[in-house]
Amino acid sequence: MAKNKKRVCKECGRLIIEEKNCPICKSNQIVDKYKGRVLILDAENSEIAEKINAKENGNYAMKY
Ligand SMILES: [Zn+2]
Repeated sequence: MAKNKKRVCKECGRLIIEEKNCPICKSNQIVDKYKGRVLILDAENSEIAEKINAKENGNYAMKY
Protein backbone atom coordinates (compact mmCIF):
# COMPACT_ATOMS: atom_id res chain seq x y z
CA MET A 1 0.00 0.00 0.00
CA ALA A 2 1.26 3.42 -0.90
CA LYS A 3 2.08 5.86 1.82
CA ASN A 4 -0.41 8.57 2.42
CA LYS A 5 1.71 11.62 1.89
CA LYS A 6 -0.48 14.55 2.65
CA ARG A 7 0.69 17.95 1.64
CA VAL A 8 -0.78 21.39 1.59
CA CYS A 9 -1.00 24.12 -1.00
CA LYS A 10 0.83 27.13 0.36
CA GLU A 11 -1.37 29.49 -1.62
CA CYS A 12 -4.88 28.41 -0.70
CA GLY A 13 -4.46 25.79 2.01
CA ARG A 14 -6.01 22.97 0.06
CA LEU A 15 -5.02 19.54 1.29
CA ILE A 16 -3.30 17.64 -1.50
CA ILE A 17 -2.84 13.91 -1.52
CA GLU A 18 -1.81 12.78 -4.99
CA GLU A 19 -1.59 15.81 -7.21
CA LYS A 20 1.66 17.57 -8.00
CA ASN A 21 -0.03 20.91 -8.31
CA CYS A 22 -2.94 22.34 -6.37
CA PRO A 23 -6.22 21.29 -8.03
CA ILE A 24 -7.83 24.56 -7.03
CA CYS A 25 -5.35 27.32 -7.74
CA LYS A 26 -2.81 25.32 -9.80
CA SER A 27 -0.01 26.45 -7.56
CA ASN A 28 3.07 24.28 -7.27
CA GLN A 29 3.92 25.80 -3.91
CA ILE A 30 3.27 22.68 -1.88
CA VAL A 31 4.36 22.24 1.71
CA ASP A 32 4.14 19.19 3.93
CA LYS A 33 3.95 20.87 7.30
CA TYR A 34 0.62 21.74 8.77
CA LYS A 35 -0.97 21.43 12.15
CA GLY A 36 -4.48 20.39 11.48
CA ARG A 37 -7.04 19.89 8.82
CA VAL A 38 -10.63 20.75 8.28
CA LEU A 39 -13.22 19.32 5.93
CA ILE A 40 -15.30 21.99 4.26
CA LEU A 41 -18.70 20.71 3.18
CA ASP A 42 -20.46 23.97 2.47
CA ALA A 43 -17.86 26.49 1.40
CA GLU A 44 -20.37 29.21 0.61
CA ASN A 45 -22.05 29.22 3.99
CA SER A 46 -19.42 27.88 6.34
CA GLU A 47 -17.86 30.25 8.85
CA ILE A 48 -14.77 28.08 8.98
CA ALA A 49 -14.46 28.22 5.20
CA GLU A 50 -14.60 31.98 5.39
CA LYS A 51 -12.01 32.03 8.14
CA ILE A 52 -9.51 29.97 6.21
CA ASN A 53 -10.50 31.47 2.90
CA ALA A 54 -11.67 28.19 1.36
CA LYS A 55 -13.68 28.70 -1.78
CA GLU A 56 -14.48 25.10 -2.61
CA ASN A 57 -15.57 22.10 -0.62
CA GLY A 58 -12.95 19.59 0.42
CA ASN A 59 -10.08 19.11 2.79
CA TYR A 60 -8.09 22.11 3.87
CA ALA A 61 -5.22 22.50 6.24
CA MET A 62 -5.07 24.86 9.15
CA LYS A 63 -1.99 26.71 10.37
CA TYR A 64 0.13 25.62 7.46
ZN1 LIG B 1 -4.01 26.11 -3.96
